[in-house]
Amino acid sequence: MAKKIDLSADVIIVGSGPGGATVARELSQNGKNVLILERGYDHRNRWYYGTYPGAVRYSDRMSLLFTQEGLNIIAPVMVGGATGMYCGCAADPPRWLKSKYGVDIERHARAAADELQIRELPEHLRGTASTRIASAGQALGYGWYPQPKFMQPDRSREKGKRFNCQANCMLGCRCGAKWNAAEWVDQAVAAGARIQEGARITRVRIDGGSVDAVEGTIRGAAFRARANTVILSAGGIGTPRILQNSGLNGAGVGMTMDTTVMVYGKSSEPGTGKEPPMTWSWENEDAGYMLSTLTDPWLMYPLAAIKKGIAPALRWLQWNKMLGVMIKLKDDISGGIYPDGRIRKPLTAADKDRLSEAFAVCRRILVEAGAARSSIFMRPLIGTHPSGTVRIGEMVDTNLKTEVGRLYVCDASVFPEALDRPTVLTIIGLGRRLAEHLTTHNIV
Ligand SMILES: Cc1cc2nc3c(=O)[nH]c(=O)nc-3n(C[C@H](O)[C@H](O)[C@H](O)COP(=O)(O)OP(=O)(O)OC[C@H]3O[C@@H](n4cnc5c(N)ncnc54)[C@H](O)[C@@H]3O)c2cc1C
Repeated sequence: MAKKIDLSADVIIVGSGPGGATVARELSQNGKNVLILERGYDHRNRWYYGTYPGAVRYSDRMSLLFTQEGLNIIAPVMVGGATGMYCGCAADPPRWLKSKYGVDIERHARAAADELQIRELPEHLRGTASTRIASAGQALGYGWYPQPKFMQPDRSREKGKRFNCQANCMLGCRCGAKWNAAEWVDQAVAAGARIQEGARITRVRIDGGSVDAVEGTIRGAAFRARANTVILSAGGIGTPRILQNSGLNGAGVGMTMDTTVMVYGKSSEPGTGKEPPMTWSWENEDAGYMLSTLTDPWLMYPLAAIKKGIAPALRWLQWNKMLGVMIKLKDDISGGIYPDGRIRKPLTAADKDRLSEAFAVCRRILVEAGAARSSIFMRPLIGTHPSGTVRIGEMVDTNLKTEVGRLYVCDASVFPEALDRPTVLTIIGLGRRLAEHLTTHNIV
């Protein structure tokens, strides 16, 4: 007979992306009794991890999650959350988090960056085409820099594999070079935490103004798990849904996405697809966008390009020669997660202006890097950073506490505005700070 799982704990953490994994590791290493409830599964050692069928299996709605406006959201559902499919880029927390919102996580993020040895890839691994794009940008006066990474090429060798980071490592890292939050889940479990995979939380139960349990389903069967403290880390879409179902109706009103799009141009030389994604970047903080070198994985490319017409789609045959530059917008708060299941993320007029300025800059850079002007096009918009749905200062305080006693949120949903940069190091910083707060104030 299957062993009955003890579903109660001092602290329940819902979700195991960078937010949940960080808090779980810190608290369990501090001797706390922690239970992680994760909707997805651990796919890391499966044959399909890092393949196209794998990505379909562990992305929400098989990668076909769309906003009403047609923006495709890639939302991985698995142990480790979206770091199971991310590009491994790292950026310091934005300065405005402290100056404007009073949340100082610099020390916490720095400690994580030191521990994980975050740094840019060595020069010879940054890719010839990517470096050509960066040099073209620099020649035009834009300050492109090598992108710091949660990536250690030597880890591949330690695992007996060859560093082989290309566009398709966004399907999941097969060579082992990239850090994944699931590794911190492993460390939490080694320190005594328990994890229940396949547990989808629908709501928290509130008794006398404080949380006392979470409710949901495990493989379709309803369950309840009791806890003194609950931390929701189910991501920018999952967390507001749980809060809405629990009666906190302000959750999910408005969201940010760092709305993303790739601009492609064909060159006569090998392109960026077989190079590690995002090795060089440039930020235009004043205008509100970031650029980086990036190409869709080979099989994804035509699915995206076809929506732009036959000519862009046919460039699939020349995928090897496509130069790709990604635009990430600091988008305004708009749309949101609706109780009836809809997700909306319209671009505002200011977002559209940012996008057209960024596109013009990409066009200039691609031409300078050797792309044929007539071949340049922008694929449809995608979203990989759903966030800002349970914002600091509105739904949670600066200690990430909700209006409900002992109910906290720690994930991308607490961003008070779009980060417009890689999110993970900021989320880790928030997680470490929250764990420190909970232990030093004897809350857990
Ligand atoms: C393709 C791609 C590339 C990216 N590249 C980068 C990059 O290079 N650098 C960077 O910093 N960021 C990158 N990001 C973004 C980054 O990975 C996410 O912003 C980050 O992982 C969000 O962390 P989180 O803890 O908020 O949530 P998530 O990582 O989304 O984790 C949430 C977890 O909660 C679980 N969950 C959801 N709902 C429930 C529920 N109801 N019950 C139980 N569990 C639930 C999910 O399965 C998931 O494991 C990328 C994202 C994608 C998709």
